[in-house]
This record gives sequence, structure tokens and C-alpha cells, in this order.
Amino acid sequence: MRQPNDTRLIQRVTAALRSGEPQTIALGELPPVTVQFWPTAQRLVCAWCGEPQGWQNGQGVRGVSHAICADCFIRVMGGGG
Ligand SMILES: [Zn+2]
Repeated sequence: MRQPNDTRLIQRVTAALRSGEPQTIALGELPPVTVQFWPTAQRLVCAWCGEPQGWQNGQGVRGVSHAICADCFIRVMGGGG
């Protein structure tokens, strides 16, 4: 189902992609969302258990970067006993 606002939304998103700056887009009753395009995004995974941790701006470098998830942080720090 195509809404009349689709064209405007696409224009706003396209502008965000071109500028590389975050753009806040609010349409209709939906809560506003901020979108930002990273030409190179890195996937973050927990180095201990391998769980996906989201994405970060690779600032020119693609691939995978490592982080630590909350569970592993607690375990490594000796807590959670
Ligand atoms: Zn982990």
C-alpha cells in the first residue's frame, strides 16, 4: 500500500544519504526517527561469545570490529557469582 507521503520520505532519506549528516524524519503519527548513512559500517560482535552487538561507523574501514557484551563484561570482571 503506497502512501502519498512516500515520495517525501524517500527524498528526506536520500538527502540524509547524500549529506552524511544525521537527519530526523517525522511523518504522520509515527515517532520521529534519525537516520544517518555511513559509507563504511562495521559490524560489532562480542569478542568473548560472538554475539552481535550492532553497528558502528567504520570511518573508512569495512569489516568486523569487536566489543564486549554486558554478560561477558560481568563474567570477565568477576561479578555475577
Ligand atoms: Zn559476550
